[in-house]
Amino acid sequence: MAIEFREVTKAYPDGTVAVDELSLTVEDGTITVLVGPSGCGKTTSLRMVNRMVEPTSGTVLVNGADVRDADPALLRRGIGYVIQHAGLFPHRTVLSNIATVPMLSGWDRRKALARAEELLDTVGLPAELGTRYPAQLSGGQQQRVGVARALAADPPVLLMDEPFSAVDPVVREGLQDELLRLQSQLGKTIVFVTHDIDEAMRLGDRVAVLRVGGKLAQYGTPSEVLRH
Ligand code: ADP
Ligand code: ADP
Repeated sequence: MAIEFREVTKAYPDGTVAVDELSLTVEDGTITVLVGPSGCGKTTSLRMVNRMVEPTSGTVLVNGADVRDADPALLRRGIGYVIQHAGLFPHRTVLSNIATVPMLSGWDRRKALARAEELLDTVGLPAELGTRYPAQLSGGQQQRVGVARALAADPPVLLMDEPFSAVDPVVREGLQDELLRLQSQLGKTIVFVTHDIDEAMRLGDRVAVLRVGGKLAQYGTPSEVLRH
């Protein structure tokens, strides 16, 4: 599913222009990385895709349809969301964290738990971690569970906001490899936010460099962006 930003601007009520006339297309089945320093509008751009933030002007389209015409709950069912500290429910086991998502779409508990077990394997976690609580996992393992949960409804689109920034560099590389492997298997349309240019170059089919004020400074394949 393609995602298109058409001259999208977001000014917050206090006058801060977070995103300024952003136009770009994320092609179906590719990873586009939004990269730039803190405050350049990456998170704001991401959140306009699933309507956590509404643009001030311009249009965001998912699969050709204006997101403003979509029911937010339905829209979000097709869009997985992964954030920096995974955002897992602390008082639920790993399996229950993942299974919650298909259960919200009406799956019965047993089927949802079976799906959750499959997803643990998909993200490279051993089955025995399923009965643990999030606090009993390492940061990298928690992020994998976050990815598994985002995949649970099998959404065609994934939004990832600095998902690997809080883990140490060696673990981060493992997570990046895993994401690239997953992507070659599953072919999701992914918008990935990071402030780390190396991570952007490694993961992006396309890289969009933003600067503070929310303007697009550069856009292209990693080698095109590197040349500038
Ligand atoms: P990034 O993800 O690149 O760090 P953000 O999208 O979080 O950037 O923020 C872009 C700009 O918008 C920053 O100046 C930030 O302070 C501001 N901003 C973000 N959220 C809000 C908000 N809810 N109200 C006002 N300003 C905001
Ligand atoms: P993140 O961007 O990773 O979500 P932040 O610390 O930037 O984390 O923002 C946390 C919350 O505060 C978000 O809901 C964001 O929209 C809001 N926020 C960020 N910057 C501002 C700001 N300058 N004024 C008001 N709210 C803000």
